[in-house]
Amino acid sequence: MKPKRYFDQREHRYEITAPDNDDPILVACPKCNSKALIMPDTLDQVKCVCTNCSFNRVKSTKIRSFGWHEDIPDDGYFGFDLWLQVYCCGQSLYAFNTRHLDLLETYIKVDLRERRQNEDGWRNASVASRLPQWMKSSKNRSKLIKAISKLREKLDKAD
Ligand SMILES: [Zn+2]
Repeated sequence: MKPKRYFDQREHRYEITAPDNDDPILVACPKCNSKALIMPDTLDQVKCVCTNCSFNRVKSTKIRSFGWHEDIPDDGYFGFDLWLQVYCCGQSLYAFNTRHLDLLETYIKVDLRERRQNEDGWRNASVASRLPQWMKSSKNRSKLIKAISKLREKLDKAD
């Protein structure tokens, strides 16, 4: 096994956003705009199933593209809008799935002093370490915490 520091950090993005049955990627249904789930289907396919209407579609997992630097990235397979997305501090805050939201929440809630002490740890938690500056700024912290709880509420909502 390779030491951690040699990992290509982009790999972690694929890892954290990979859909599984317990933690699907949440998107807005292109048909009715309700919550839809992207889950594994066959070995090289994912499926998108709406929780409200009859919409469902499969797609090969061989091609995946990320618009991480776009304002609102899509799911990477189908090109649908992410369900967990809000605006905060004039910026877009989004999560692909529950564990991605958990990671953001942990990062944002952790005390800034503690964060500095654990700088190496955070550096290794690549997704967190690549968060944009506005998310790391202490002056935005309370707004970010509110935005995170809005996303939490969306988790359980269907539309
Ligand atoms: Zn639908």
